[in-house]
Amino acid sequence: MLLKKVLKSAAKIKPSVSTITPEPDRRRQFDVLVVGAGPAGSTAAYTMAKAGLDVALFERAAPGEKTAGGTAIYTLPTREILPDLLETAPLERILTDYRYMALTADSAVTAAFKSARYAQSPFNRVSVHRAKFDKWLAGKAVDAGAVLFANHKVDALLKDHDKIIGLEVGPPVNKQFFADVVILAEGVNALLAERAGLVPGIKTENVALYVKETMALPGHLIEERFNLQPGQGAAIGILGESTANFMGSAALYTNKDTIGLNVGTYVANFVTGSFNPHDLIVKIKQHPLLAPLFTGTETLEYCAQMIPEGGYEAIPPLVHPGCLIAGDAAGLVNGVQGLNLAMLSGQLAGKTLIAAKHKNDFSQRQLSLYKKLLDESYVLQNLRANRHIHRFFAARPWIPEAEIAVINEIAYQVGMIYPMPNGAKRRYIWQKAASIQPVWKLAADFLQALWVMK
Ligand SMILES: Cc1cc2nc3c(=O)[nH]c(=O)nc-3n(C[C@H](O)[C@H](O)[C@H](O)COP(=O)(O)OP(=O)(O)OC[C@H]3O[C@@H](n4cnc5c(N)ncnc54)[C@H](O)[C@@H]3O)c2cc1C
Repeated sequence: MLLKKVLKSAAKIKPSVSTITPEPDRRRQFDVLVVGAGPAGSTAAYTMAKAGLDVALFERAAPGEKTAGGTAIYTLPTREILPDLLETAPLERILTDYRYMALTADSAVTAAFKSARYAQSPFNRVSVHRAKFDKWLAGKAVDAGAVLFANHKVDALLKDHDKIIGLEVGPPVNKQFFADVVILAEGVNALLAERAGLVPGIKTENVALYVKETMALPGHLIEERFNLQPGQGAAIGILGESTANFMGSAALYTNKDTIGLNVGTYVANFVTGSFNPHDLIVKIKQHPLLAPLFTGTETLEYCAQMIPEGGYEAIPPLVHPGCLIAGDAAGLVNGVQGLNLAMLSGQLAGKTLIAAKHKNDFSQRQLSLYKKLLDESYVLQNLRANRHIHRFFAARPWIPEAEIAVINEIAYQVGMIYPMPNGAKRRYIWQKAASIQPVWKLAADFLQALWVMK
């Protein structure tokens, strides 16, 4: 009876035949096993399969099904990895605007830039829906010859002494797979790497928790809100399937599409019960200057996911005997760039193993080519150049709230017309700004910021 029950649940969760080619029972030894069919893992699998390596790609769900993050893809770096990106990827919209809002409770200073040049091929940023994009990318790996094991959650890495020699897929599959090398591209919460003792445990101050809500806006409201001609709203679907992107902390500062908070701050406040991540989205949606944008919208998706923010100094060792680590699992996120860094690291891991296969040398010395290639790439050069940013912000918890308050106060006061001479008004504004944050402190922060942000 029990056996029957187990078999029944296995059949239920077993991936459809179309996601596994050929049946896993017949092939358990591969050249390379890749864990995670996100941008890093699928790019690695695609790169190696195209070169003729025997590659298995493991994903705990269907590709894209577990993904929360990432909407903007940067076309120039991505096309170097995937030259057919613009022709074949499921892209949504060309992004031509940058808009930053520094918000206080009742006002906002907005900086915006829009260029028609961004609308010309090969563009700069395009938005994607990750569920569709990840599926497309994994499909490219499969088309190139990789074997995709969807709905295969990897539970552990297999070791022979110190060397990683394979992996174990958990219930209901319960199988072991072996290869010369395993690439770990399991995302930010790299539990497999941690359990195998390859990376230290995640430190809360090195990750941020982002909360994202995707809202749809009917065409006629788009026209009304963005001053478009009748019919244009439906055609453009400007917010129809996109996200209103914000980033915030305990006070609010805005970025693009998500609200984020350092996990250390979150934990501290959660323990005292003062707020949870969802409160940040509510706060944004109820802001008097933003609320009108959200009226009439319908929530399509809601999610929360961590993102590495520790920078260069938090990057763990990436090359181990029989194992390479790529993408978010390797901490390779730089400001707003994560997807292209994940894909490039996946490609470089793949190239490393192609070279290793040609030489039939999978020693750690040979695998360290991966680190060399990363070091030479813009990924690590930029992260290294910005390596002090994390410490800069950690040492100045008042940033950016104090600066935002000062900027808004100055903007407000400049707009006010007082019955006083201009000289007296300038002194008044200076006093007002200085009462929020001493001017020497603002100047010192500004100069330090110039030094650390390269
Ligand atoms: C809210 C948010 C917004 C973002 N916006 C942007 C943006 O606009 N532009 C940008 O460039 N970057 C953005 N990022 C960052 C970007 O999403 C990540 O850098 C990128 O997804 C990293 O890719 P990855 O392949 O390393 O990891 P992931 O995309 O996390 O993929 C890891 C995969 O591994 C699978 N997996 C995990 N564990 C196992 C296991 N044990 N067995 C099998 N499979 C497993 C997961 O299901 C997943 O599919 C954003 C991130 C967040 C959180």
